[in-house]
Amino acid sequence: MRGLTISAHGGLDRIELRDDLPAPLFASDTQVRVRILAAALNHIDLFVVGGLPNVQIVAPWILGSDAMGVIDQVGDAVTGLDVGDRVLVNPGLSDRSCSYCLAGEQPLCPRFGILGEHLPGTLTEYVVVPATNVRAVGPDADPIEGAAFTLSTLTAWRMLVTRARVLPGEQVLIWGIGGGVALACLQIAKLLGAYVTVTSGSDAKLERAVALGADATINHRSVDVGREMRARTGKRGVDVVVDSVGEATWSQSLGALGRRGRLVTCGGTSGPMVTTDVRRLFWNQWSILGSTMGNDAEFDAVVEQFRAGRLRPPIDHDYPLEEGRAAFERMADGAQFGKLVVRIAS
Ligand SMILES: [Zn+2]
Repeated sequence: MRGLTISAHGGLDRIELRDDLPAPLFASDTQVRVRILAAALNHIDLFVVGGLPNVQIVAPWILGSDAMGVIDQVGDAVTGLDVGDRVLVNPGLSDRSCSYCLAGEQPLCPRFGILGEHLPGTLTEYVVVPATNVRAVGPDADPIEGAAFTLSTLTAWRMLVTRARVLPGEQVLIWGIGGGVALACLQIAKLLGAYVTVTSGSDAKLERAVALGADATINHRSVDVGREMRARTGKRGVDVVVDSVGEATWSQSLGALGRRGRLVTCGGTSGPMVTTDVRRLFWNQWSILGSTMGNDAEFDAVVEQFRAGRLRPPIDHDYPLEEGRAAFERMADGAQFGKLVVRIAS
């Protein structure tokens, strides 16, 4: 089996295309095997290459979390899925037996893991997952868009719908438009009827975000985003800030946040340690919300949006598997607007 792998942590030069990988074992009658058509990159893939604390890889480690493919084997106990179905793969796996899982909150599972990070990934020809981790999307679904869809959109849906509970007419500020989660947040916030301001250090990316529905833009290289948002809102501040940049942006995010504001985060790409003045936190009655991945109900909700064509991930570029490392290099440069996708099969 072919796949993009690393055998040690380090720079992107560690990424190696191999053709001697063992096919994954089909171990349970509740699993499906998916022949992967395309896989997409997420920021987490860069962290996996570089090395994450408390995450052990077994060499050769297959990278990648997102995938769309075709079912080519179905466990005996699986219902509602057939060989030949095109499916989206949810890369979040849980034990399905703890109190969180039984309450339908799989991303809170103490044994939660993600394909490509805790389990072998999707930048390869086959993956075996529980049937609960796939949804059929119809024979005409585009593999590039399908591969690009799930992790970003599922993450963004939980952030805005479940955690921040964005309401029509609310003001939403999204940092760093161009990445997959930020773009999915823009699309979902617009579906929810919010007024959305996006930031970028690139005027070209801001222009493209307006074409996707952003109501207003800020080039965060030239202004303090917190002060700018207070000025633009008559000192009121915004209702929701989406900040997954972390250290570099946190204080400006809080500066932008109005009373009863919610700051929602799913990461800290610039660094993890932030400071918050607790006096402003209680006085303004802010909510600081963490969010990660999504549960089964949220997976159903975003797949429904995908099937209906209401949420389609912007694609930056797609690559053949042989050139997969170039996709990682483009992501590391932060040059992309939309998803980077690797074609595996047709
Ligand atoms: Zn669990």
